[in-house]
Amino acid sequence: MGRELGARIRLGSAVAALDIRPDRCVVRLATGEVLTATAVVSALPVGPLRSVAISGVGEARLASLHRQRHATAAKFAAVYDRPFWRDADLNGLSEAEGVLGSTWPQNEGVLSALVPPERYGVLLGTPPQLRAPELLAEMAGLFGDEALRPTACHLRLWGTDPWTQGYVTQWPPGEVMAVGPLHGTHEPPFYVCGSDQWVAGYMEGAVRTGRAAAEEALRRG
Ligand SMILES: Cc1cc2nc3c(=O)[nH]c(=O)nc-3n(C[C@H](O)[C@H](O)[C@H](O)COP(=O)(O)OP(=O)(O)OC[C@H]3O[C@@H](n4cnc5c(N)ncnc54)[C@H](O)[C@@H]3O)c2cc1C
Repeated sequence: MGRELGARIRLGSAVAALDIRPDRCVVRLATGEVLTATAVVSALPVGPLRSVAISGVGEARLASLHRQRHATAAKFAAVYDRPFWRDADLNGLSEAEGVLGSTWPQNEGVLSALVPPERYGVLLGTPPQLRAPELLAEMAGLFGDEALRPTACHLRLWGTDPWTQGYVTQWPPGEVMAVGPLHGTHEPPFYVCGSDQWVAGYMEGAVRTGRAAAEEALRRG
């Protein structure tokens, strides 16, 4: 599909502003370049969307979109030659009480872990060069000293990545009613999709809302 669309797909093009009009929508990129379209489908997560200046969309809809929040989390993965934890009859799953919130085996020889929102600040406060060693020490406490000798480590701070500003949609008590019935709906020619526009985030939400928004845009224009 990408090949068919060719140059119409623009990668690495951050959107800075949207002006939505019934006859002509204007999209301004961070570079200052201006694109025009008959409709706009936003697939941005709610955090980055707050940084986009939007005009021509109803106040209530913007208030609903802009109050949605994301769980601020980080992902850590340690890669080993083999799943050494099995030697001790362990399956790699844990609920942890340190900076790591939970671990699980992601693949043969890979341990994955999440740093949950309430511990993310502790991770950010840790000097960057100490983060991986300290997280590995936590894994060693769970699975043994072989955890200290990975062949590779990957730490991704999704909560402060400017393009996601989070991990998955966060719905604290009261938030569903506060975001309200405009959630996941459209105001043609402005459409929204992405996992934040579904009931519970995740890939299923990204795919379902993408298909639904495309169908709606084709139907209503
Ligand atoms: C560590 C981690 C583990 C996860 N595990 C699972 C799992 O096991 N199962 C599951 O179902 N889901 C999981 N998820 C959630 C899932 O990855 C997301 O819900 C899904 O990828 C969101 O898809 P999306 O298309 O809505 O948004 P994204 O994939 O975030 O796409 C949004 C795009 O918008 C771009 N963008 C942002 N701002 C701008 C701008 N101003 N201009 C232009 N482009 C912009 C971004 O660069 C990005 O490409 C996980 C997420 C994380 C972080």
